[in-house]
Amino acid sequence: MTKLEVLKKYFGYDSFREGQEELIDAVLSGQDALGIMPTGAGKSVCYQVPAMMLPGITVVISPLISLMKDQVGALNQAGIPACYFNSSLSQHEYFEALELARAGEYKIIYVAPERLEIDSFSSIAEECEISFVAVDEAHCVSQWGQDFRPSYLKIHRFIESLPHRPVVGAFTATATKRVRDDIITHLRLSFPKTLVTGFDRPNLYFETHRSLPNRTNFILDYVRTHPNQSGIVYCISRNKVEKLCDALCNAGISATRYHAGLSQEERRRNQDAFIYGDKLVMVATNAFGMGIDKSDVRFVIHNGMPKSLEAYYQEAGRAGRDGLKSDCILLYAAGDVRTNQFLIDQNSNPELSESEQQAIRAKDLERLKLMTFYATTTDCLRDYILKYFGESGCGHCNNCSNCLAQCDEVDVTNAARKLVACVAMTSEKCSQSMLFDFVRGKENEKLEKFHLIDRKGYGCLKDISPKRLKEISEYLLRSGYLKTGDYYTLRLTEKSHDILSETVVIKVTKEQGKREKDKSRTYDNPRLFEKLRQKRSELAKSERVPPYVIFSDKTLHEMASNMPLTESQFMMLSGVGTRKCEKYANEFIPLIKSFITGRE
Ligand code: ADP
Repeated sequence: MTKLEVLKKYFGYDSFREGQEELIDAVLSGQDALGIMPTGAGKSVCYQVPAMMLPGITVVISPLISLMKDQVGALNQAGIPACYFNSSLSQHEYFEALELARAGEYKIIYVAPERLEIDSFSSIAEECEISFVAVDEAHCVSQWGQDFRPSYLKIHRFIESLPHRPVVGAFTATATKRVRDDIITHLRLSFPKTLVTGFDRPNLYFETHRSLPNRTNFILDYVRTHPNQSGIVYCISRNKVEKLCDALCNAGISATRYHAGLSQEERRRNQDAFIYGDKLVMVATNAFGMGIDKSDVRFVIHNGMPKSLEAYYQEAGRAGRDGLKSDCILLYAAGDVRTNQFLIDQNSNPELSESEQQAIRAKDLERLKLMTFYATTTDCLRDYILKYFGESGCGHCNNCSNCLAQCDEVDVTNAARKLVACVAMTSEKCSQSMLFDFVRGKENEKLEKFHLIDRKGYGCLKDISPKRLKEISEYLLRSGYLKTGDYYTLRLTEKSHDILSETVVIKVTKEQGKREKDKSRTYDNPRLFEKLRQKRSELAKSERVPPYVIFSDKTLHEMASNMPLTESQFMMLSGVGTRKCEKYANEFIPLIKSFITGRE
């Protein structure tokens, strides 16, 4: 079989996505591979297709125990013999799977890195031919990332212990050069084919809100106006998860919760309820989501700002893996910065030296600053994200809240210059709110304490509203005319002086008249879609798999639109391979027929 035939037969897709083919070709030709692709880009296909074409077994090393079960379930559904080894298996299950693996029953074996060194597992390695080792979430090998796993550092020993060195592939969504270099070094990749695909996810709509008067009401409204849609709401603390989940449940919304303070049993139950579609909304801390590949998440709302754009894009990117339009909304308030600073200060890793930890902290603070700029910028959000990840940007995407906002351009040159001058006049001692009181000529205990009231400039911007001052100061921080120092003070920079020769024009959002976002989420034959969805749900329940493992929403929409009536038409749908066609065509086609004849 050719690689395209494998793609269609097992996965139901007609063509490869960007990057997949190059990586697969490298692996098939015996070259190591490093694939850096954003969440949802389709990294799994890059190792699952070669696994079906190479002799012997492919071992997939993954840190995500929760994901293994789903991935193996999905592979089995597609007709691929696969199993997994991790701590969730009972001893009996473990030895049974081991026996079958030794007998050559599996093409793909998922394993947690800790298991590699266990004798019983290494016996597979001795008795069977392992032709390919794929390392998923390969950034876990890097101490510079937030997901560092010491057990990843031992992977190369396992590979070297094999009788024949297999081809090694590493896959991650983390793009920084440092992490990439660590992956190559620590996994000992040999002249790997390295492929970095674009980071843009065109189906995702980005939106930010600053200082909403009531974030809970916003979320309630959003969920109510997006019925039957599955989504995740991330909160910054366990306490906030509890409160918000209660508020949603009290309002009759089908919601559940997840955070590290719950028992393992409850976390598993709640996660399953969300994945299997019994609950629509998951309210969670960032403990939730690693390894969740539910493809039909239609929105991810951040009720509070995460600590970096890497974390934000990873979490927000859990929306729309099936390629359908989905929303990523960030609700930001200034207090989020302080909470994150606190969390960064608390963060310590006993495996690192004090100076290494300090270097990591400094980097974390820099990342937090750039995250804050994302939350406050009035320019295109997608452009900001792409540039952050080292791409050339897209200018104006027309698919984010800033591009769709109706803005006025306001010349604030004078006020901006005065604000910078007053930072100097107050000897860089003021936090933002103190400085605003200073320029507006307000009483303020700290200004008095530091004897700043009688300084020149006091009251020089008394007619400007605090909101406008905030917009100006955010602009000055983003553009590097000011920076923040210890105790949240505003400080001058090397660039501050240049403000005297600049014209400062900021974009100010009009409260009214926001342009409509592209609502083209309407699909053909919604009634038929509902019938098909119900059928999928019944099948999923009886087979005990998540609905999207049977067919993605995308496949169901295509089914409702194309209305296939024969097996060969059914086979043409994206996401329908041979096995699924055999298994499900006769379940869905009768529904389509009765819909057409109006007898449904
Ligand atoms: P990643 O691991 O990169 O986050 P996945 O491997 O989970 O992404 O793939 C995301 C989604 O894209 C899955 O639903 C997968 O079936 C789908 N997909 C992968 N490759 C293709 C392709 N060539 N054509 C269409 N859909 C694809």
